[in-house]
Amino acid sequence: MIAFGPVPSRRLGYSLGINHIPAKYCTYSCVYCQVGRTTHMPLERQEFYAVDQILTEVGQKVTEVAEAGKKIDYLTLVPDGEPTLDINLGKVIGGLKQFGIPVAVISNASLIDRLDVQEELMQADWVSLKVDSVDESVWRRINRPHRRLSLPRILEGMFAFKQKYSGKLVTESMLVAGLNDNEKITRQLCDFLLKLQPSISYLSIPTRPPAEVEVRPPSPEALQEIIEICAEKVPFVDLLFESEVGDFVSTGNLVEDILSITAVHPLREEPLRAMVSMAGGTWQVVEDLLADGSVLSILYRNERYFFRRFGKLGGKASTGTS
Ligand code: SF4
Repeated sequence: MIAFGPVPSRRLGYSLGINHIPAKYCTYSCVYCQVGRTTHMPLERQEFYAVDQILTEVGQKVTEVAEAGKKIDYLTLVPDGEPTLDINLGKVIGGLKQFGIPVAVISNASLIDRLDVQEELMQADWVSLKVDSVDESVWRRINRPHRRLSLPRILEGMFAFKQKYSGKLVTESMLVAGLNDNEKITRQLCDFLLKLQPSISYLSIPTRPPAEVEVRPPSPEALQEIIEICAEKVPFVDLLFESEVGDFVSTGNLVEDILSITAVHPLREEPLRAMVSMAGGTWQVVEDLLADGSVLSILYRNERYFFRRFGKLGGKASTGTS
C-alpha cells in the first residue's frame, strides 16, 4: 500500500503518508530506525514505483478521505527508506500538486548536496532534514551511513538548499543515550542550527522498538541538560515527543499502565492527568512513582514531561550504545 492514513501528526496536522520506497532502501542504517536494519544501501537514485501508480493510489485515498468527510493537511512523502533515493521524486511532488494539498518530505538529508535533489525538493511546501550530529564520528555511529557519504558535504548541501528554498524547512535530531547526549555534542549541534536557521529544529527521542535493542533515550537528567542548552542558544528548538495518550484503555492496574506508557511515550502532564482520571485514580499515584524514582519528570518551557526510568521495577538499565 503506497498511501496510508491520514494520521494525526503534531508537525503536520492530518498527514496522508506516501510510502514510495520499498523497505528498507536507505543510505543510512540508523541505530534507532523503527523499520529495522537497512537491507539495501544504494547511493544511486532509482525508480521504485511508476509515478502514475503512486499518483493513482494517492488520488484514490484522497477521494476516500474526502468522501468520509475527513480532511488532509499534508501529503507526506515518508517512506520506509530515504525518499530522495527515488529518481522520480520531482515528478511525484509535481504530480501531487494536482490535489491542491501541501506536500511535505521527510528526508535524512544524505543526498542534499546533489543539485538534482535540491531542485526537486524545492517543489515541496515543507521539508524536514535529519541532523543527529555534526560530529563525524558520532554521525557514523548513530546513522551508520553509506561509506561513500561525507558529512561535511551534507552539511554544506543543507546550507545551499536553505539559501534557495522558499518553503518551510525544519530539522529533526534524534537523541540517543551514550551517543549524542553530551554537552559538547549538543553545543556543536546548536551552533550548526543557529547558522542554518531552519523554521523549527525538532528534538526527538527513540520511543518505539529501535533497530538495535540496546538503543535508549537519554536519561531524563541528560535530556534536561540538553534542552536547557538548546533552549538558551536556539530559540526555534521544539520537542517532538509523542506525548498524547490517544485511545488509552486501562488494564485495571494504573501503576502498570503509567509505567508501560511512559516507557515508550514521554507524557505531558495534561494527558497524564487525563489518563489517571479516566482510570478512576488520583494524582497521588504519580507522586508515589516520582517519589520512588520509577518515573522522572523534566520541565521544558513550562510544561512537565513524565518518563519511565529504566532500571527501576524490572526495567532494563540505561547503558547507552557506545
Ligand atoms: S534515515 Fe530513516 S529510514 Fe533510514 S535508517 Fe535512518 S531512521 Fe531508518
